[in-house]
Amino acid sequence: MAGQPPQRQSQEEAPLNVKAADLNVDVFLDAVDRVAAGRGVACWWDVVADLRLSYPGVPEKVVLAKGRRLIRNGTLGGCWCGCRGDWYRVQRPAPL
Ligand SMILES: [Zn+2]
Repeated sequence: MAGQPPQRQSQEEAPLNVKAADLNVDVFLDAVDRVAAGRGVACWWDVVADLRLSYPGVPEKVVLAKGRRLIRNGTLGGCWCGCRGDWYRVQRPAPL
């Protein structure tokens, strides 16, 4: 309807123009650690909720993309396909 202001969704934060590369790896891994504490694994949407404390409104797909990179490079274990993920930190053995 002409002249009406656009409706804003009050539930959702305005999406940020943030890319996976913009997410700090340490902040991301800290979020995984917090969510996985006591459970051993972290569902990715809980990681999204935790990350939004640091990156308000960060899109879910960006968090999934970051998780995919970290799983592929061996930093995280779990799955990035969009199932709950069950992300966990991979403990690398210390070099001898
Ligand atoms: Zn999966």
